[in-house]
Amino acid sequence: MREPPGLFITGTDTSVGKTYVTAMVARALRQAGHRVGVYKPVATGCGRENDRVICDDAVVLAEAAERLDELEHVCPQRFLAPLAPHLAAAAEGKAVNVELLRRGINYWRAESDVVLIEGAGGLMSPVTDELFVADLAAAFGYPLVIVARNALGTIHQTLTTLIAAAAFEEGLQVAGIVLNQPQPPATGDVSIASNRAELARRAVPPVLSEVAHGARLFEPTVDWIALAAAGQSGAD
Ligand SMILES: [Mg+2]
Repeated sequence: MREPPGLFITGTDTSVGKTYVTAMVARALRQAGHRVGVYKPVATGCGRENDRVICDDAVVLAEAAERLDELEHVCPQRFLAPLAPHLAAAAEGKAVNVELLRRGINYWRAESDVVLIEGAGGLMSPVTDELFVADLAAAFGYPLVIVARNALGTIHQTLTTLIAAAAFEEGLQVAGIVLNQPQPPATGDVSIASNRAELARRAVPPVLSEVAHGARLFEPTVDWIALAAAGQSGAD
């Protein structure tokens, strides 16, 4: 059986809208008729509902992919403290299950035409004492989509993330960048008008889309399947 293609969605920072953009990608793929798997290897800052730990991101992803019945598989490792995973786990007297981080994708690989993985934080965010998010991205082997904030400062943050991707091990493949507005544009931030062109001039991977605050669809559309499939050439 041919493994389904996939994308690994990372961000230039936390709270840049990774979940929001990943859900948009999932909806676009659903509309094109694909069975979409969504996976978040670990989440922190989760809420508690009765005796269950709820990951809001996982619910958003499962809804977008129309896989709510399989919510437990979306994010198998959920911790309460808003800290890096190893610290959040330790705060509960637990540890991150490193094997499960990697193995958790197998459910979706078997049940999907295409898989989307949302990392935690950015590429150099620690996941355990030894591992970074970039290590997980390398292990999964899918091209990266970098979500960046469309605000003053994004050129530096995005190029720094691209440098980290290129420098990590043999280099992580980057499918492209999505400029997102997780908050309404700040009054007076005139960089929004030029960020896309300034990034496109300096980044090798393309700026795939500029998402307005609150947008639900990519305009124009993006061929996410082609981007995911491009990651398979030469792989495995
Ligand atoms: Mg998120």
